Amino acid sequence: MGVNTKYIFVTGGVLSSLGKGIASASIGALLEARGLRVTFLKFDPYINVDPGTMNPFQHGEVYVTEDGAETDLDLGHYERFTHVKLTKDNNVTTGCIYHAVITKERRGEFLGGTVQVIPHITNEIKDSIRKVAKDVDVVIVEVGGTVGDIESQPFLEAIRQFGLEEGRENVLYVHLTLVPYVATAGELKTKPTQHSVKELRAIGIQPDILLCRTNRFLPHDIKAKISLFCNVEERAVITAKDVDVIYEVPLIFNKEGLGDIVVEKLGLPKGKVDLAPWNQVVSRMKEPQGEVEIGIVGKYANLRDSYKSLVEALHHGGAYHRLQVTIRWVDAEDVEREGTHLLEGLGGMIVPGGFGARGIEGKIRAISYAREEGIPFLGICLGMQCAVVEFARNVCGLKGAGSTEFDMDTPYPVIHLSPEQEGVVDKGGTMRLGAYPCLLKKDTMAYEAYGTEEIVERHRHRYEFNNDYRDVLKRGGMTVAGIYPKRDLVEIVEVKDHPWFVGVQFHPEFKSNPLRPHPLFRKLVEKSWERKNHG
Ligand code: GLN
Repeated sequence: MGVNTKYIFVTGGVLSSLGKGIASASIGALLEARGLRVTFLKFDPYINVDPGTMNPFQHGEVYVTEDGAETDLDLGHYERFTHVKLTKDNNVTTGCIYHAVITKERRGEFLGGTVQVIPHITNEIKDSIRKVAKDVDVVIVEVGGTVGDIESQPFLEAIRQFGLEEGRENVLYVHLTLVPYVATAGELKTKPTQHSVKELRAIGIQPDILLCRTNRFLPHDIKAKISLFCNVEERAVITAKDVDVIYEVPLIFNKEGLGDIVVEKLGLPKGKVDLAPWNQVVSRMKEPQGEVEIGIVGKYANLRDSYKSLVEALHHGGAYHRLQVTIRWVDAEDVEREGTHLLEGLGGMIVPGGFGARGIEGKIRAISYAREEGIPFLGICLGMQCAVVEFARNVCGLKGAGSTEFDMDTPYPVIHLSPEQEGVVDKGGTMRLGAYPCLLKKDTMAYEAYGTEEIVERHRHRYEFNNDYRDVLKRGGMTVAGIYPKRDLVEIVEVKDHPWFVGVQFHPEFKSNPLRPHPLFRKLVEKSWERKNHG
């Protein structure tokens, strides 16, 4: 823990999905724009140790960090809005906390004492905050859930204690609420905010700053009213206006004075503010000079949150070329039932990662279509595996080729469980996870995109390309464009004689950033644009 480390706690009220993750990430961007070093911690009140074992319908995307932690999707926002690289220590759930406390209890570390929520659980929570406070000026802690939830209570109690221990001059409480505009009354309503702050104050937390989510800039009289009822300075009542492009949030916050108030209240140096890169990204996104349509053929197509990083990566790639990427969500099962006419007119196609057999045949059909029609294609993880299966079946004549994930009896298991995974029974945290280096072959589409021979990308899978079929597939015209040398694992495949067809075993979307768009997404958008304009 640094001597001068400061802490910002972000809580949310009224209802969920107000954008607490993006608000926290944006505060990070504002501090970095002032030359400060930040990190983040996300508390999640559920009992799962990590979200890796949760269904995407329940939880949305599982975001994978460099060190292979399976984390909440808000960590993706934090990495996209700042330069931080997060680890397993930056996402802590109720499950983690209890697991740690119970392990200590079993070891006899509490010397016969009764183990209780206060102080044992709250101490463990406070320790997890101090653990990430290394080599940074500010730790931004987002408390998941909504104030008033039973499950969030120990976290809120812990952050209250934390303020007492660290001194109020080192801690800032930021609360995100909703100020709805009620059309029938023609008015902005402050009551939900008042109630939410009242709830927070009842547990001993007086917010210093309110972020008010709303669809218009709050006029002075509304801010004055909120200030009076919530006991928050008027200038610290900030409009968190709805935006079309999420990267505009830091700019709006800054305009509302948030950055200056934060550094002032925490006694941090004011510094020069440089938000030029964000202004640029936003203007590129809001004033595109053309449009391309890219299809995502997936299983959770009706649940966009499970593809959060993917969608952002596409928008980053688009912004790089000043192009708007329009996404056509295609349910793989619909392709299975209704056929490939659902894919007509696409500029490019992505088959993303996934688990389970549902929709597999639809994905394979979509890939055939992309391969045969020359549609620029990016297959990610399961999407790459399906591309290998498709190529084996339809080009190399390996009838019935498949992945042993879905078909144990396939005559040609071109995708199989890696030997390391045989015998693994636990589901949580046991996949091939996190960053691995990959060596690229020259004269490939991947090499052309990255412009370098060695890359590092993040993984989350159990199954692998089966090297027994490498030669057959190569002879058929599939290129192995990247390998993980240490274990000779195939990480990237390509199809020759195609405008752009790349399958990657890793998840490039986790490393794309609006200020540093990922090479593969940049290329996919570029090739899709070329196809649109030159056929
Ligand atoms: N289900 C596949 C595997 O475990 C792919 C996983 C993924 O797409 N992330 O290997």
